[in-house]
Amino acid sequence: MRVPSLPVTVSRPIRARIDLAALRHNFGVARRLAGKACLWAVIKANAYGHGQFPVAHALRDLADGYALLEIENAIALRERGHRQPILLLEGFFTPADLPALARFDLTPVLHCRAQLDMLAASSERPRRVYVKLNTGMNRLGFLPPELPEILRALAALRIQDVTLMSHFAAADAPSPAEIAASLARLREANAEPRLPVSLANSAALIRHPESRGGAGDWARPGIMLYGGSPFAPADRTAAQLDLRPVMTLESRLIGIQHPDAGERIGYGGLFQVEAPTRIGIVACGYADGYPRHAPTGTPIAVAGHMTRTLGRVSMDMLACDLSGIAAEIGAPVTLWGTGEGGQVDADAIAAAAGTIGYELFCAVAPRVPMRWEG
Ligand SMILES: *Cc1c(COP(=O)(O)O)cnc(C)c1O
Repeated sequence: MRVPSLPVTVSRPIRARIDLAALRHNFGVARRLAGKACLWAVIKANAYGHGQFPVAHALRDLADGYALLEIENAIALRERGHRQPILLLEGFFTPADLPALARFDLTPVLHCRAQLDMLAASSERPRRVYVKLNTGMNRLGFLPPELPEILRALAALRIQDVTLMSHFAAADAPSPAEIAASLARLREANAEPRLPVSLANSAALIRHPESRGGAGDWARPGIMLYGGSPFAPADRTAAQLDLRPVMTLESRLIGIQHPDAGERIGYGGLFQVEAPTRIGIVACGYADGYPRHAPTGTPIAVAGHMTRTLGRVSMDMLACDLSGIAAEIGAPVTLWGTGEGGQVDADAIAAAAGTIGYELFCAVAPRVPMRWEG
């Protein structure tokens, strides 16, 4: 049987648009905050869901280096011609990883003795390492008093180019107490000769100037590059930080309903209509990455008007309130970002759903076509 061939076009209206000019603007905000310190552009998790390669390409003349997790993704960046330093935030996992680190000039984070043993047993070693200290988060890292011994072991392996790294557990909190305690532990460990340091994520870069470092040090902004606020919306929004949204998730109305008073909307009938009303059905659901836990009342923009979602988000669709909005099937809808439908802060959607912008961006599903602009 011959299958008739038709031009393949994506016709379901949901899209994620990535504004690379906004990404570069946000990088500029990080650059100004960093002062003399260098900047890793954190592009882990497929650049927080924005596409690792387009994001790296857009930042190629701005970022001092790229930070990510997987060695194969780092190699793929090298193969695309990126020559900047590349930091592997979890280092290496098995001895088989080590030849690639040397060959592709990748900088691993060294955070445990098992990694040190692998280095000692290998004939191929990276030129440069980041030694991660646990200054209070208790996730990865050596304890500060272990540092002299780690440095001696590295020197014996002829690895002299060492940067000290730590990660804060609560850099987004308004109180600087946690940062001060971590910095004190780090300063005590980092005796003469002082090693370069890399401490600040987005929140610390914005809120804790004392953690940014100076010439030779490196900050590691992630979420702010993508236009997300590292703080709770009630604390400081992305707009207040001069960050521009990079990702817009947009779709269209594919259905209109006119339920009478007393009728219910969607699975479980969670929302009951009080008066005859007009509701719109949007081609976007949790299988697209929209959070299922977003309750009735979550902001959504339709044809230039702010409105609210109604009832439970289903796999492929969600419902919204069209009271007072003259929108028909095909009308543009912005789930988050800035589009034809209007403007919605992704952090507000995240807050409504009990999560953070990071998770929304990372969760956009592969079935959503992504377009890069700017
Ligand atoms: C993800 C990550 C960052 C970036 O954090 P943001 O909050 O997105 O700025 C920095 N450092 C490490 C070690 C990370 O894992």
